[in-house]
Amino acid sequence: MRRLSLDLVITRLSHLFLRTLRDDPSDAEVASHKLLVRAGYVRRIAPGVYSWLPLGLRVLREVERVVREEMNAIGGQEILLPALLPREPYEASNRWTEYGPNLFRLKDRRGNDYMLGPTHEELFALTVKGEYNSYKDFPVTLYQVQTKYRDEERPRAGILRGREFLMKDSYSFDLTDEGLTASYQAHRDAYEKIFTRLSVKYVVVSATSGAMGGSASEEFLAESEIGEDTYVRCLESGYAANVEAVKTVVPDALPIDGLPEAKVYDTANTPTIDTLVDWANGADLGRTVTAADTLKNIMVKTRLPGGEWELLGIGIPGDREVDEKRLEASLEPAEFVMITETDFKNNPFLVKGYIGPKALQANGIRYVVDPRVVEGTSWITGADEDGKHVVDLVVGRDFTPDGTIEAAEVRDGDASPDGAGTLVSARGIEIGHVFQLGRKYTDVFTVDVLAENGKPVRPTMGSYGVGISRLVAVIAEQHHDEKGLRWPAEVSPADVHLVIANKDETAREGAEGLAAQLDRAGLEVILDDRKASPGVKFKDSELLGIPTVVVVGRGWADGKVEIRDRFTGESREIDAASALDEIITAVRG
Ligand code: ATP
Ligand code: MG
Repeated sequence: MRRLSLDLVITRLSHLFLRTLRDDPSDAEVASHKLLVRAGYVRRIAPGVYSWLPLGLRVLREVERVVREEMNAIGGQEILLPALLPREPYEASNRWTEYGPNLFRLKDRRGNDYMLGPTHEELFALTVKGEYNSYKDFPVTLYQVQTKYRDEERPRAGILRGREFLMKDSYSFDLTDEGLTASYQAHRDAYEKIFTRLSVKYVVVSATSGAMGGSASEEFLAESEIGEDTYVRCLESGYAANVEAVKTVVPDALPIDGLPEAKVYDTANTPTIDTLVDWANGADLGRTVTAADTLKNIMVKTRLPGGEWELLGIGIPGDREVDEKRLEASLEPAEFVMITETDFKNNPFLVKGYIGPKALQANGIRYVVDPRVVEGTSWITGADEDGKHVVDLVVGRDFTPDGTIEAAEVRDGDASPDGAGTLVSARGIEIGHVFQLGRKYTDVFTVDVLAENGKPVRPTMGSYGVGISRLVAVIAEQHHDEKGLRWPAEVSPADVHLVIANKDETAREGAEGLAAQLDRAGLEVILDDRKASPGVKFKDSELLGIPTVVVVGRGWADGKVEIRDRFTGESREIDAASALDEIITAVRG
């Protein structure tokens, strides 16, 4: 269908380098992995390292084609940088070290350090620096479709998370922030087109809490139960965000006047929230207490790059757990660790199980709270003495936190930050990422060009990735049934899968003739001309997943062929005489 030349390139299953497997590979857990291996699309070489066999390679090339078309449409220019890279540029950006064990490092025969590129910001910045030196050259967007290497800790699901994988990475270079915004938006629009053309169901989530205007970084996640990314969405408004990016809806402050006095109670053996709630409900406080009425205080140590470790107290409602990813994102660029026994020993004012805001603030420890802990709220929390808690400790009267922090888990039913409804969580697979980098890398390599006024100006960058090989798995994951793959037309390895299910010589000749006609009409045909039973051939046609299956079988003698839609499962008999037109219509929709 996409081919313009008229030479005969019918793919004959009798010759195709293909072996389908009856059984699922033993190392496969997810459907796409099982099916892509069983259907002979890919083969495993090592953990996270796969070969592409003919049909798999065709799908991969189709995905690439769609991505290229949309990149070219926004003015992207394709180049190709090496995957084998010297250490120095990555040393300059500190990523030689920062990338940690994920980086494949190697040495050449002279003992020089090399690496296999995991992503190419450094090299693109250097490439632009090497060629361009005037404002007249900008803006420019460059991209490549290239094999990347990452020594992933957990390669997974075949080509879904590989250690060698194919990525489209592009980089925009603009001289102004407005320019960067426009380049970013162009990529974002192109990605929407790409994933729509590929029939991928996806959401766009903001990847950061929006400190840089909300669109500094967004991820495209394919909706999938087997995804490793959790995100939340609001079904009413379509809001979607990474859990790290969710901002808690802050309740209104409450009046303090008339609230009961804070009172310390003996609460022996209540080191956990459950035991504390049990105690409270047996203590005649005049109300029913739940975990949400308690304030638990978690102690961590944080450190800014190059700085010293400092204690930090975090108060969150007792019915919620700390979400370490959210905490990490909130503290960035500082890192954190949980405190240890030694820290308790060195800071005797920390009473394990009974830590309260008072002792923290009295000892100069920074104390931050969940945004729900607003002025006028009353809490049951530690009283900084073994076996003691304080009840009715009021924010703004009895203590004032040093600030708020997004560290508590986000739960289904929480209010959506856009006020439109509630949040539900879902899982996704990252298929693309758009990111406003700014001048991080142009600073590292002092990429300066002459502005119109003759002064040097430093370009600002965007970086944008699409996981091309991963998309093959994602499409397979979203489009299959128990029998096999079901490729969307745009990426299918062929347009028509023509099965000869009749030993009769005239039927075989008829099928050959029909295949040739389809081919001449510009459709890509797979012809199952093997000497195998119809049952085996039908099973393989389902497994391989070409959208339109045509069967030349018993009906041939009566002038009939069967046409099956692999996507809907529908099948019907059509007249052999008009088969060509009907098949073309079925394929082209
Ligand atoms: P992930 O969180 O899944 O590891 P990432 O944040 O590391 O992804 P980027 O560095 O932004 O991903 O890379 C751009 C794109 O490359 C991703 O959106 C994804 O589609 C793809 N990709 C990343 N790592 C892999 C991998 N190990 N195997 C296959 N594709 C990958
Ligand atoms: Mg990664």
